[in-house]
Order: sequence, then C-alpha cells, then structure tokens
Amino acid sequence: MSRVALVTGGTRGIGAAISIALKNAGYKVAANYAGNDAAAEAFTKETGIPTYKWSVADYDACVDGVRRVETDLGPIDILVNNAGITRDAMFHKMTPQQWKEVIDTNLTGVFNMTHPVWPGMRERKFGRVINISSINGQKGQAGQANYSAAKAGDLGFTKALAQEGARAGITVNAICPGYIATEMVKAIDEKVLKERILPQIPVGRLGEPEEIARCVVFLASDDAGFITGSTISANGGQYFV
Ligand code: NDP
Repeated sequence: MSRVALVTGGTRGIGAAISIALKNAGYKVAANYAGNDAAAEAFTKETGIPTYKWSVADYDACVDGVRRVETDLGPIDILVNNAGITRDAMFHKMTPQQWKEVIDTNLTGVFNMTHPVWPGMRERKFGRVINISSINGQKGQAGQANYSAAKAGDLGFTKALAQEGARAGITVNAICPGYIATEMVKAIDEKVLKERILPQIPVGRLGEPEEIARCVVFLASDDAGFITGSTISANGGQYFV
C-alpha cells in the first residue's frame, strides 16, 4: 500500500514541485495551502492532487486539517513542512506584526503541523518529517531578521526532534534551499537579482523547484533511513556550512 504524504504550502512554488515529485514517486499526496483558492484549484485540475485549505499558523486548524487528510487518504507517513512567507524589512523598520507573522508561519507552523502527526508516526514506528528551511537561516540575511530567526529555529527543531524520533523509526531532516526560481524570488527587483544576487551564486543561476523536490523524494525514501537530524544545503555553492 502506498504511503501518504502531506505537503504544507504544496500548491505553489517549491511545494507544488514537491507534491508532484512525491506523487510521481508513488505516494498518495495531499497539498495544503493558506488562501489562494484559484492557484489550488488550478493545481488540482492539472495534477489530480487533492488540496486542503488551512493556515499552519493556527494550531487548531492544523489538528483539524490533519484529521481531514487522514480520513480521506489514511495515516500520514511523510510530512513536508514547506509553507513559508516573507515580511522583509530592515530591523529598525520591522514592525512587531512583521516579526510575529513570519515566526507564527515559518517556525510555530512547523510545531503546529508536526505535533498532530507525531503520535501516529510513533505508534506505527515509521515517519518522515522534512522541514524546508533556508540558506538565510544558516547565514543570516539583512532585511530578514524575522525570516532568518524562524528558519534557524527550524534547524534546531529538526536536530532535537531527530533525537526523539530515532528509536521510533522516524527521521527528521531539513533542506536549506538557496535562491530558487519561484514567485517569492521573482518578487525581488530584477536589477537586484542580476547585479547583486546572481554574482553570489557560483553555479551562476537560480535553482529550480524540482531540484529541491528531488531532495525531498530521497529523504522520504527507505534509502534515507539512516539519515536523520541532517541538513541538505541546496544553494548552487553559495554557502557552505
Ligand atoms: P511561494 O510563496 O511560492 O509559495 C508558498 C506556499 O505556502 C503557498 O502554497 C502558500 O499558500 C503557502 N502558505 C503560505 N502561508 C501559509 C500558511 N500560513 N498556511 C499554509 N500555507 C501557507 O513560496 P516558495 O515556494 O518560494 O517557498 C516555499 C518554502 O521554501 C518556504 O518555506 C520558503 O521560506 C522556502 N525557501 C524558498 C526559497 C526560494 O528561493 N524560493 C529559498 C529558501 C527557502 P497560498 O497559495 O494559499 O498563498
């Protein structure tokens, strides 16, 4: 019987590529999203992957969302915590609201989603939790104190939980993408992208969402059973840890 995978923010950008790659690898996939109904509808039409709307920032909604997915598809074996947002500002201009929204989604959202699936994974003695962090959580980024803090927090969470899950057959890993060609990155000013960002990337190009998706498929597989608590840096050589 095929395993069930839930991808948060799984209808657009990197998350959509992850949902599709997992489906192509034989998993039953559910894709969560926050509010863009049109994108979700188009995604289901194109891929046949069912979508589920709730905010990962809302704990009760996550508990209910997990219940809905499990009722429809079966127990969740693979959780990909991919949903993420930016609210960039230099720190002296950053509002408490910008701080809170990013922490609530990018860090607390990972707790909110992992907590309801964890007991089932422990009982079944199998699980894969894959957290999509960021290069900016590893190296820090001016204008992103909120985002860098949340994404660095995701890495600490990954390492701690890997230790708790190890004996229960659950692996917990993180992927730190560099600049990937999605709407989040396309929103960056063209001139800034060409003159300041691309020169920092040794391979000389942005990454593709599918390149992150292939890392996820590997970490989800039985072949990756001995890998836990680790971070895959997929950034075109921009930063080495
Ligand atoms: P996109 O903005 O293209 O897509 C974000 C997805 O997350 C959408 O499906 C969106 O739903 C969903 N989402 C946002 N907030 C919530 C929420 N509160 N609850 C549920 N779903 C939510 O992002 P990317 O594909 O670029 O990024 C995906 C992940 O990769 C993020 O965690 C990001 O931080 C990380 N990352 C991205 C990089 C890049 O270069 N693009 C680099 C490093 C890391 P909806 O469609 O409804 O808005």
